[in-house]
Amino acid sequence: MKQDNQEIRLRFAPSPTGFLHIGNLRTALFGYLIAKSQGGKFILRIEDTDEKREVEGAVKSLLEILTWAGIEFDEGPGIGGELAPYIQSQRFDIYQKYSDELLAQGKAYRCFCSSELLEKMRNDQAEAKLPPRYNRACRDLSPEESLKRVEAGEKFVIRQKIPLAGEVKVIDELRGEIIFQAHDLDDQVLIKSNGVPTYQFANVIDDHLMKISHVTRGDEWLSSFPKNILLYEAFNWQAPKFIHLPLLLNKGGGKLSKRQGDVFVEDYRAKGYIKEAIINFCALLGWHPQGDKEILSIEELKNDFSISGLGSSPAIFDLEKLDFFNAYYLRQKSEKELIDLARPYLIEANLPTEGEKLERAFLIARDRLKKLSDSPEALSFFFEKIEAEENLIVWKNNTLETAKNNLAEILDFIAKIEENFWTKENLEEEVLGWVKREKEGRNGDYLWPLRTALSGLKNSPSPFEIAWVIGKEESIKRIKEVLNLQKF
Ligand code: GLU
Repeated sequence: MKQDNQEIRLRFAPSPTGFLHIGNLRTALFGYLIAKSQGGKFILRIEDTDEKREVEGAVKSLLEILTWAGIEFDEGPGIGGELAPYIQSQRFDIYQKYSDELLAQGKAYRCFCSSELLEKMRNDQAEAKLPPRYNRACRDLSPEESLKRVEAGEKFVIRQKIPLAGEVKVIDELRGEIIFQAHDLDDQVLIKSNGVPTYQFANVIDDHLMKISHVTRGDEWLSSFPKNILLYEAFNWQAPKFIHLPLLLNKGGGKLSKRQGDVFVEDYRAKGYIKEAIINFCALLGWHPQGDKEILSIEELKNDFSISGLGSSPAIFDLEKLDFFNAYYLRQKSEKELIDLARPYLIEANLPTEGEKLERAFLIARDRLKKLSDSPEALSFFFEKIEAEENLIVWKNNTLETAKNNLAEILDFIAKIEENFWTKENLEEEVLGWVKREKEGRNGDYLWPLRTALSGLKNSPSPFEIAWVIGKEESIKRIKEVLNLQKF
C-alpha cells in the first residue's frame, strides 16, 4: 500500500494515432500543472498497444508539439527515467507476467470463443435489445481443460473475472463517489489473442508500476472506470486518484469535431496562434482560477493551479476567447520577437523578413494582429502600395478635385518637414497643427486623402504612422502617384 506522503506523479499517456487533439493538450496541461504546482513529476508514456490505429512518426510529432507548447516531461521516451521503458510496446513481458498472476489466482481466465462466435453473440444481443456482453461461456473452464486447449493450439484471450453481482464504488475527485452495478460490467479482455494487452490492462499496470499518484484523463473514460478499479482490487493495489476532466463542447453545445473546425493543436499553430495564448486558453477549459485574473502565464499556472479549482461541468471551447488571448499575447511581444514568430508567413507572402522598416511596421500593426497569419495582410501595404480606385481619396461629399487639391496642399506642407523630424509623433503634431491653423481644423478633408493615398486602403493605421513606417521619400512618391504628378 502506498503512503499518504507519496510523491506526486502524473502522466500523459497518449496513443500515437496522429496529431495532438486540442482536448488532449488540455489533458496533458492539467496533468503537468497539477504535478508542477505540487512539486511533483510529469511522465510521458506512449500507449501504442493498438497497432491498427498507430500512425508512423506520431510519437515524434507529439513530442515536438508538446515541447513547442512548453510542456516538459521529467521521465519518458527519449528522456529516460528509472521506470523505463515508457513505451508500452516495449513492456509486453511485464503485462504477460501480471496476467499470468491473475490467471494463477483464478481472477482471470482464458477465453477460447472465436471472433465469429463473439460476433454472433453481439448480433443476437442487439436483436434482443440487450447490451453487448460476453456470455462468460469460458469463465468456469477448469484449469486443466484450459491448459489442454492451449496445448492443442487453440487461440485465446485473457479476460478478467468481474464480480457477478454487487456494487462497484469508485471515487472521482471532481464528482465524488459513483456507484456502478457489477452485473452491468463485461468480463473485460486483458490480453488479446496475439498476446498484446488491451489499453485497459496495460494502462492500469503501468500507472501502478510508474507510481502514478493522480490520473487526469477525459471523461469518456468514466464508463470503464469501475473496471479499472476492479483490476486494482484484483492485484490488491491502491488506485491513484482519478480526475476525469470535463467534456469540451463547442459554442453551440455540440462535441468538438473536425467537421466544425480545427481540432488539432498543429492546426492552431499553423494558423498563427502562439503557445502562450493556447496554454492560457486551455488552462481555463474546466479550471477556475482563484480571483478574477484570467491572463496567466505558464509560470503562474505552474504555481497557482489547483485541483480544487476544477469543475465537472462541460467546458465551452470559445474561439473568440482564444483570439482574445492570442491578440493579447501578440501585443506583449517586441517587434523583433514578432518578426521571428511571423517569419514563415512573411516568407510565404514574399515580404521582407528583417530590417528597420519591418520592425516599424510591426510596431504599428501589432495591435491589429489576432493571429500571426494576419501579418501579411496587416503589413504588406507598407511594402507595396495597394492599387486603389482614384475615388478612394474622396472624403464624404467632397469632389475628386477637392480631394486632390487638399492632398496637393498637404503634400506641399509635409515635403518641408525634414527627414530628421520624420517621426510619427512629429508628423502628427505638425500636420494637425497646420490643419487647425490654416484649414479650420477640417481633419477629415485633409487626413482622409492623405491616409488613403499612402495606404490605398479604406481601413488602415493613421497617416502619420504609415508615413513614418514607409519614410519620407516613399510617402511623397505615393502621394504624387495619386496626384498623377510626374514631378512636383
Ligand atoms: N491512451 C489513452 C488515450 O490516448 C490514455 C487515456 C488515459 O489517460 O488513461 O486516450
